[in-house]
Amino acid sequence: MEEQTRLVATGNLLEAHTWKGMLESSGVQVEIRGEALLGGVGELPTGIQNVELWVAESQYELAKTQMASLDAQCPQWKCVSCHEVNESSFELCWNCGAERSEKYS
Ligand SMILES: [Zn+2]
Repeated sequence: MEEQTRLVATGNLLEAHTWKGMLESSGVQVEIRGEALLGGVGELPTGIQNVELWVAESQYELAKTQMASLDAQCPQWKCVSCHEVNESSFELCWNCGAERSEKYS
């Protein structure tokens, strides 16, 4: 087994899966750790959670590059109501349902 390196950690399981899908489409094998502690994928956990994305060391730089380009393409926005950070594709805050504000990206 090749050594693996933790790429990123997030409290947002949906975000973790978004990143995983993006990275895998770029040829990076991703392992999500910590997910077993959470509920099903269809549920959005609301408590403090920690999900980690792990990649092989040899793919770490590629993964980092892909993450950076994702950030550039899809700026996140921050909910003005609860201060949760949302993906750019969300029109409503996933946490509290407040409408998107364009003041923050
Ligand atoms: Zn909110």
